Amino acid sequence: MPTQANNLDAYWMPFTPNRRFKAEPRLVSRAKGMLYYTPEGREVLDATAGLWCVNAGHGRAEITRAIAAQTEELDYATNFNLGHPKAFEFASRLVNILPGDLNHVFFTNSGSESVETALKIALAYHRVRGKGTKTRLIGRERGYHGVNFGGISVGGIPKNRQYFGGLLTGVDHLPHTFDLARNAFSRGQPAHGAERADELERIVALHDASNIAAAIVEPVAGSAGVLPPPVGYLQKLRAICDRHDILLIFDEVITGFGRLGAPFAADHFGVQPDIVTLAKGITNAAVPMGAVAVRSHVHQAFMDGADAAIELFHGYTYSGHPLACAAGLATLDIYRDEKLFERAAAIAPHWEQALHTLREAPHVVDIRNIGLMGAVELAPIPGKPGERGQAIFHRLFDDGLLVRVTGDIIALSPSLIVAEGEIDRIVAAIREGLSQIA
Ligand code: PMP
Repeated sequence: MPTQANNLDAYWMPFTPNRRFKAEPRLVSRAKGMLYYTPEGREVLDATAGLWCVNAGHGRAEITRAIAAQTEELDYATNFNLGHPKAFEFASRLVNILPGDLNHVFFTNSGSESVETALKIALAYHRVRGKGTKTRLIGRERGYHGVNFGGISVGGIPKNRQYFGGLLTGVDHLPHTFDLARNAFSRGQPAHGAERADELERIVALHDASNIAAAIVEPVAGSAGVLPPPVGYLQKLRAICDRHDILLIFDEVITGFGRLGAPFAADHFGVQPDIVTLAKGITNAAVPMGAVAVRSHVHQAFMDGADAAIELFHGYTYSGHPLACAAGLATLDIYRDEKLFERAAAIAPHWEQALHTLREAPHVVDIRNIGLMGAVELAPIPGKPGERGQAIFHRLFDDGLLVRVTGDIIALSPSLIVAEGEIDRIVAAIREGLSQIA
């Protein structure tokens, strides 16, 4: 029986089957490097970098020291009409590693807030240029863009949408790119499916470009279960957006900061978005933070706009929070000094090869990988979607491996510090786990 001081029911947990969890709680209370530790001291190998976010591994002393020093120096300052040096320094450092002319950064506190901010910037951008009819937004089936209203409106995961009313109006969805019949067990980008980007042209024809503001996609869909874009797909989206003065937004909350072995997915795929949303790896998850980076022409439109004293009437109490900026600066130092993005690129072939050895394991219907992302898709138990996913999650955690499951898909994204031996352990544990579950 939980005591009042430690009442499990007091905490309504996010994205968790609460009743099930509280009947059988699983906790971690410490972490270092690739490992979590349970309160009993049992080791759990972290195959998900927390939640696609602890890219430099857990418990980085450089980051905690920077946070502690910043707390002493300046705990908080508003960024409304007032600044502090670390925010400018961090924005400049980000701009230096962002591709192309993504030269301006707006700070938020999460991926969801980054998405809302990006969508609002897109709408306001057209308006300040006198193109106020360009208001429609285009998302994608199976897209995950956080949980706020804009994000779930352009997102395409039914459960994220179905309980929450009418959502934003004026939104269309591109078809998702998943194609098991043609692309099963692809390595890296699947060969088939670029033509699904042509749907954007159809949507433009339907509504007219004069009514469309922006299209937002995850370059690699993450939460839907790791869906790399078909070869040529993102290039097609870029070309169609260019033709019709539509802003292309990449949601790089997962793919940013080295997940694919390049600084950003835009680098990896050689496609330049107009706006990029960031979070997670931006501070190695030590302090919540997000950011939106925009290209020069987007920013300039606001600076040229004369109709308001404040160019963008938007922001958060904690935009550019000093502790987050300090954590972010220390995180970028680690990425640079330890060459972690290059390291991810170097180990990705081993990751791919090891993951695909699971092809013959029980229940496996597809395996996907790109950079240091991977997914092992399982056949659902007939009539009980998600049950097999829950079973393998629990089995693996109890065996000392943390994965993320989304439905019946095991999603994997180890920290960029992962060693070959740890990859082999992850794959071996999954193989064993799959042989044990029904
Ligand atoms: N966009 C993408 C692509 C994400 O993967 C996530 C989180 N998994 C978000 C947005 C939302 O981020 P947060 O949970 O920090 O709000």
